[in-house]
Amino acid sequence: MNAKIKGIKPCVACDVRAQTHHNVFVHSLSWAIKNFLLEIFFPSFCLGCKTEGTLLCQDCQATLEILQYNYCLCNKNPLRLAPNEKNSKCQRCQDKKLAGIYTALSYKEKFLTKKLIHQFKYSPYIKTLAKPLAKIITEHLLITQKNTEQIWANSILVPVPMEVSGQKSRGYSQTQILTKELGHLINVPAVFDSLIKIRKTLPQMKLSAKDRAQNLKDAFAVKNSRQISGKKIFLVDDVYTTGSTMEECAKTLKSAGAKQVFGITIAREE
Ligand SMILES: [Zn+2]
Ligand SMILES: [Zn+2]
Repeated sequence: MNAKIKGIKPCVACDVRAQTHHNVFVHSLSWAIKNFLLEIFFPSFCLGCKTEGTLLCQDCQATLEILQYNYCLCNKNPLRLAPNEKNSKCQRCQDKKLAGIYTALSYKEKFLTKKLIHQFKYSPYIKTLAKPLAKIITEHLLITQKNTEQIWANSILVPVPMEVSGQKSRGYSQTQILTKELGHLINVPAVFDSLIKIRKTLPQMKLSAKDRAQNLKDAFAVKNSRQISGKKIFLVDDVYTTGSTMEECAKTLKSAGAKQVFGITIAREE
């Protein structure tokens, strides 16, 4: 990683771009103090068993079945891939722009998984859930042997952009916060202002496969292609459903010069 070579550790404690930001210690300290004070005045409770002092206790986290394998992009009966499989997708998905998907949990498996994601995405939002959720993703990456220097070399994390109106009403983008936390854990720089959404789209779930592609066509753009060009990009989102949003993002990123585009999500809906 370039940032590492130059002795600059990427800072994810604030919104300042990682590569140009030097004062990591001060920012990490203020981040830690803020979290400490928040915990005193607004203690958290485990979403599984209501134990005080954590959003997800170790016992409840242990009940989540973190996926032991990587699966292909296909949204119907995704193919399970062998741990050392070089190709991260099956034969029928070879034409897709997305090179592969890393997903930590199966959405349908557990009530707790749904609850965690729901509380993170919908009102009343629990922003701080980003931390345990990023940890779950990291756990999956470790299990599937994907958390390696070789994989993260020349890589950046990019959040899937959300509707501007949604971000305004919520005051933040949950994917950005998740990306930030994940970047911190795996030590990969996060880039927030390069991939943007340039027009409104309809909710994908209500549309047919054909209309989905049309709905997303040219919905995204790359603002600063220098940050993207030649990089291996890991697109971060909360749930992978049909994959069409990620595919459209991958298409946009690749035409802006990205070398490869993978997806990373907390859960997958099958
Ligand atoms: Zn618990
Ligand atoms: Zn496939």
